Amino acid sequence: MNDMGKAALNINYPSGFVMDTKVNNDSAAPYRGEQPWGMPKDLVIPRALDEDERLWVPVAPNTWSRPLHLNTSLGYYVHILKVTRSGILQRHRHSGPVHAYVIKGRWFYPEHDWVAEEGSYIFEPPGETHTLTVPDDCQKMITLFTIFGALMYVDPDGNSTGYDDVFTRIKKYREYFEKIGLGADYVRNFMR
Ligand code: FE
Repeated sequence: MNDMGKAALNINYPSGFVMDTKVNNDSAAPYRGEQPWGMPKDLVIPRALDEDERLWVPVAPNTWSRPLHLNTSLGYYVHILKVTRSGILQRHRHSGPVHAYVIKGRWFYPEHDWVAEEGSYIFEPPGETHTLTVPDDCQKMITLFTIFGALMYVDPDGNSTGYDDVFTRIKKYREYFEKIGLGADYVRNFMR
């Protein structure tokens, strides 16, 4: 939509977004105050899709997890899941919400009639049980997941068979980073 169109819609932009950077005065200056004491450090991961195999932690056959953000005080983790096989990956129930963005390939839950296609955003509500499946025609699936709480692995009747949360993930990442020589504490780079 061009600016004429926006004017016709009479959109009120939030005031913080309206800065005239051509005017040399304070209105376009960056914040110059201090950040609050006790605030965690920001976390920046360049080239999150790089193929550097040291950063892709094997979690199952043909399945890797690249940790981006492991948050131990709010109990969530952000990672990229890469899968190079098709079929059922796992059945699980969520105690917390999940946000997903499909970067490559596709996957689905047989419990639902939609398919998470490349470019899709998906919200999984807390309480839901489903079976992550990669279709036969998909050779490589890559998805960014933000997972709050626990992923409880279950049998088809919902009986618990195990679980994963930010702490089990940290344990797995630590073991892997130790094994490949980066050192177990390399995981701290991703923790907040
Ligand atoms: Fe899920």
